[in-house]
Amino acid sequence: MSYEENVRKVTPYTPGEQPTGKVIKLNTNESPYPPAPEVYKALEGLNIEELRKYPDPVCMELVSALASYYGLDEDEVFVGVGSDDVLSMCFLTFFNGKDPILFPDITYSFYDVWAEVYDIPYKTIPLKEDFSIDPSDYRNEKNGGIVIANPNAPTGVIEDLTVIEDIISHNPDVCVIIDEAYVDFGGVTALPLLKKYENVIVVRTMSKSRSLAGMRIGYAFGNKKAIKYLNDVKFSVNSYTMNMPSLKAGAAAIRDDAYFRETVSKIIATREWTKEQLKDLGFTFRDSATNFIFASHEGVLLGESREELARRIFETLKSRNIFVRYFEKPRIDGYLRISIGTDEEMRIFIETLKEIIMR
Ligand SMILES: *Cc1c(COP(=O)(O)O)cnc(C)c1O
Repeated sequence: MSYEENVRKVTPYTPGEQPTGKVIKLNTNESPYPPAPEVYKALEGLNIEELRKYPDPVCMELVSALASYYGLDEDEVFVGVGSDDVLSMCFLTFFNGKDPILFPDITYSFYDVWAEVYDIPYKTIPLKEDFSIDPSDYRNEKNGGIVIANPNAPTGVIEDLTVIEDIISHNPDVCVIIDEAYVDFGGVTALPLLKKYENVIVVRTMSKSRSLAGMRIGYAFGNKKAIKYLNDVKFSVNSYTMNMPSLKAGAAAIRDDAYFRETVSKIIATREWTKEQLKDLGFTFRDSATNFIFASHEGVLLGESREELARRIFETLKSRNIFVRYFEKPRIDGYLRISIGTDEEMRIFIETLKEIIMR
């Protein structure tokens, strides 16, 4: 027998590339804009001497800023090291049943990884042909919990709150997690449902709409009892997940609401411009409520299949230092996921794309 028999073997999540040097980076849905001026002030004013102490284990400065911004009580808010940490804690806390947890076949590709690493049985529910959810698929399916990203990634598709509520109301005995990583770009939030249902957790991040991917700040909203359960698990794994600079930067980002609104609306305007350009080039996509567009090109005129063309565009763009995301997976291998950059970046991207398509 070897020690390896007792090793937990997992296939990890593959994050998008983080190339160095001067590139146009449209592959991991980061904001193209710097963090808010208030965040600069907070970090420049850090008292380094304070770092000798442990950070506040209950993260009150950040929790309290979030609670007052979203009109909740402090004990209805949980924070973590990016929403990946928050979601992982949610899986560990709420998904302990024997029945499989459910999520769509095309969604954030970390869900199945957490299910695997925590030994949680899971079952994927196919999205419809147009990448939307049929809520009736979640009505009579015995399960141990549900995770829905709304708007969804990598499709960018948004579901009405009626669909989300249908899923929550038909599954009162399990926890339903709504991952709202992209909600600030045009989604509808399930936040109002917290008052109506006790089995909902809403998860958010500062990585995309608040330009803080490098700081690692995520958060969740839920009823007091559910948040207590989450904190109990967190304090059983690591009491100090959030470091002092993140707590300060996160609170500062929330304070600077004007900057947040300004950058989000710039990204939305650039997205709408990019959609028009992509349409003119013959790309098709579902309307996007996010900071990315998930697009496909029929390729017939070029004598290539959708998949061949998507792959060729991805590779050619990369050779010209423009990074987008390509997923080699069933149903979506004919698509490119293009994050929205600055106007200038998108102009260069579209020009380059034109050359590739018209070769
Ligand atoms: C980006 C993303 C996350 C994770 O973001 P963090 O950087 O860990 O906060 C979670 N869910 C979805 C759907 C995402 O796209």
